[in-house]
Amino acid sequence: MAVSKRIVLRFPRRLVDRPIVSRLVKDYNLDFNILKASVTPDEEGLMVMELSGKQDDYDNGIRYLAETGVKIQSLSQNVTRNEERCTYCGACITICPTGAFELDPVSRRVTFDNEKCLACELCIKACPPRAMELHF
Ligand code: SF4
Ligand code: SF4
Repeated sequence: MAVSKRIVLRFPRRLVDRPIVSRLVKDYNLDFNILKASVTPDEEGLMVMELSGKQDDYDNGIRYLAETGVKIQSLSQNVTRNEERCTYCGACITICPTGAFELDPVSRRVTFDNEKCLACELCIKACPPRAMELHF
């Protein structure tokens, strides 16, 4: 059976320049489509990709990633903002790799576009009043 899933991969600093993703093609017969790639302020690599192939190959590829030290996250998680807690401080704007936060020039408030969110969780740690919440 073939599968195709959108996942978020986080590479610790020691793995950022290793050819890990290319091995998914070479050794595990998987196809990938990178939707987003960036390096976070603490130099962790963040990659959002669609990974597809046969179920067994997919499972083995995911196991390989996990054993190598890559953290894997499904995009089925949902990140929301608790409007009562947000102070519109703006700390999340530069942290978010997809530009889900914007400063409204008129109201001076920070807007949050859930449609752009990839559930990478970076804003959750960065938000001083803990307004960003992760739901499963
Ligand atoms: S960091 Fe938190 S409190 Fe500040 S604007 Fe973003 S969501 Fe609101
Ligand atoms: S979890 Fe936060 S930082 Fe990550 S994409 Fe969503 S809004 Fe942006």
